[in-house]
Amino acid sequence: MNLVLLGPPGAGKGTIAGIVREKLGIPHISTGDLFRAAIKNETPLGLKVKAILASGELVPDSVTVDMVRERIAQSDCRNGMILDGFPRTVFQADELAKMVKVDHVVNFSLSEESVVKRLSGRRMCVSTGKIYHIIYNPPKVEGKDDETGEPLIQRDDDKEDAIRNRLKVYQESTEPLITYYRDKGLLRTIDASATPDAVAESFLSAVTVSG
Ligand code: ADP
Ligand code: AMP
Repeated sequence: MNLVLLGPPGAGKGTIAGIVREKLGIPHISTGDLFRAAIKNETPLGLKVKAILASGELVPDSVTVDMVRERIAQSDCRNGMILDGFPRTVFQADELAKMVKVDHVVNFSLSEESVVKRLSGRRMCVSTGKIYHIIYNPPKVEGKDDETGEPLIQRDDDKEDAIRNRLKVYQESTEPLITYYRDKGLLRTIDASATPDAVAESFLSAVTVSG
């Protein structure tokens, strides 16, 4: 099953993918995580995209599509995948349609006010990728990853200016995909304002009930 997660930054896509991926038995592919790994490892791709991520702009379509094509050719994707953060433009969606058959697109619906609260309190562990929130999902020990004890970081693009820019970029470039996928009969909208477990449950019913 090939799933696409749609919705504003901070709606909880990565958190929910982390909960449902084992139940569904398919990998969670986050283009944001792939770019951040490239930046951390200082690869040529990482050097090219570092300033773009920090500003909250989108990486050029051709660079993003090539990276995704390479990732989904790997053997763990043969039974499907959960795509998180891709596609983000109509061009990327058209390219994805040439690569795989998309079964469901789950749109995470959340007010802008909640999105800003979630993004400004988000913290993450760079090596495990685990996502926390200082109020809604705090680590056991303040500022440290539950598993490894490594220090948690605040993403550069979770600071106020970049958050505002990312929301604008979302509205201009990504929101049109709601209509794009609704017109194809693939869109399932879920209320992302509930607790993570409740959102994960709505997610699973949206992708397991056909029609
Ligand atoms: P996205 O992948 O859509 O950008 P994340 O999964 O990283 O969003 O979540 C953004 C922030 O909101 C994180 O700090 C996360 O801990 C928190 N969060 C995610 N889902 C919920 C939820 N259902 N209720 C409260 N906070 C949440
Ligand atoms: P995310 O982790 O999904 O919030 O993505 C973080 C950043 O990575 C975005 O603000 C963009 O700069 C970049 N990015 C992630 N996915 C894409 C994509 N599909 N197209 C272009 N840029 C992307």
